[in-house]
Amino acid sequence: MSVPHDELNPLEAAEARFDLAAEALNLNEGMRKVLRSPAREVIIHIPVELDDGRLEVFTGYRIQHSIARGPAKGGIRYAPDVSLDEVRALASWMTWKCAVVNIPFGGGKGGVICDPTILSDRELERITRRYTAELIDVIGPESDVPAPDMGTNQQTMAWIMDTYSMHKRHTVNAVVTGKPVDLGGSRGRTEATGRGLMIVTLEALKKFGIAPGEARVVVQGFGNVGGQAARLMSKAGMKIVTLIEWDGAVHNAEGLDIEALIAHRKQTGSIVDFAGGTNVDKTEALYTECDVLVPAAKENVITSANADKIRAKIICEGANGPTTALADPILKKSNIFIIPDILANAGGVTVSYFEWVQDRQGFFWNEELVNTRLEEIMTASFRDVVSYAEKHEVDNRTAAYMLALDRVAFTIQQRGLYA
Ligand code: NAD
Repeated sequence: MSVPHDELNPLEAAEARFDLAAEALNLNEGMRKVLRSPAREVIIHIPVELDDGRLEVFTGYRIQHSIARGPAKGGIRYAPDVSLDEVRALASWMTWKCAVVNIPFGGGKGGVICDPTILSDRELERITRRYTAELIDVIGPESDVPAPDMGTNQQTMAWIMDTYSMHKRHTVNAVVTGKPVDLGGSRGRTEATGRGLMIVTLEALKKFGIAPGEARVVVQGFGNVGGQAARLMSKAGMKIVTLIEWDGAVHNAEGLDIEALIAHRKQTGSIVDFAGGTNVDKTEALYTECDVLVPAAKENVITSANADKIRAKIICEGANGPTTALADPILKKSNIFIIPDILANAGGVTVSYFEWVQDRQGFFWNEELVNTRLEEIMTASFRDVVSYAEKHEVDNRTAAYMLALDRVAFTIQQRGLYA
């Protein structure tokens, strides 16, 4: 395994996992080069007039890591620290994630270096529309389908869809996913990532012989992913014993009432001081003894500095990259069963795929159908990864990467090289 020089650098983390899987697959050097290299990288500079009349230029990226198995698929991030390396890493993650759940997409990612918290809606709209216009020949339902990521949302997707459609002179809702339902978004998309986490956690509990009602779960992050996961896991009977947010953590050994906690946060703006639990230290809370730990807040939470303190039987990775490559061997020593991010949180991109299919057919499914099909894909993918790991005697993360690399490499081999 190539040892990351900077444990927290996302590109190095992605490469470390890639190398490990490529080695285990015994992939030849040529194919490794092909799989490692992004197919296309676009850098654009976006001039925008701010509300006070000043002109500002923002830098944006769109990277298509792979289009071998279908259109590039992946979110667009607006944040001050977006970098080319980060977008590259995230784009390759999307390729592997789509391949693990076996949906006909490649991987892509975009970003704009800006601080959405200090920009007005009008300024964000101008940035988004100009960014889209610059990418008019790059994105498209058949070529590259963006989605929301950090700092972007349903409204951003509506602006992209509208700008793209104005250029094409007709409505093209399949150009983005994560749109409002009224504009061709899919039912069930908002909770899809959390629902996927719940489905794979139930599968893992079965393997451990733990009944859902006996399972003690710790969730970090009470946002879209963690909040929905906590709500759905609790509905499935699991006990959410600890919830961790950036400003504190709450604990109840009998299980927190998640609906009441959502109401408390709505009222007070925080999860702390919840009447149905006790406040606990947010750092120590991550080390609570539990059956399932769900890191669903951000990357680099479990590192070589704290991995030995984790006391969970199962880690179900809600966030992208919550565990660093150097933490993996430490968790392995503790026999912790990891459901890796590229499998665990793939429910979001799976329902994005459903959204794209519905848009292209102009025929929309009810929520029950979305959820049933999501469950089929997540359950099958979990079983694929775990049986692959058992067969090849590797950990689940390496198995997920091996499965993904193998699928993409096989497609490239079958298609042959156009030269
Ligand atoms: P979000 O912003 O809705 O939620 C993140 C939550 O984590 C927020 O409530 C935030 O306050 C909390 N948080 C931030 N720093 C924290 C800290 N240090 N300790 C505890 N809590 C902290 O974002 P999200 O959409 O839920 O995404 C969370 C993660 O999941 C990200 O890594 C994202 O890339 C990944 N992810 C999201 C989706 C999706 O469909 N939204 C899909 C796949 C992966």
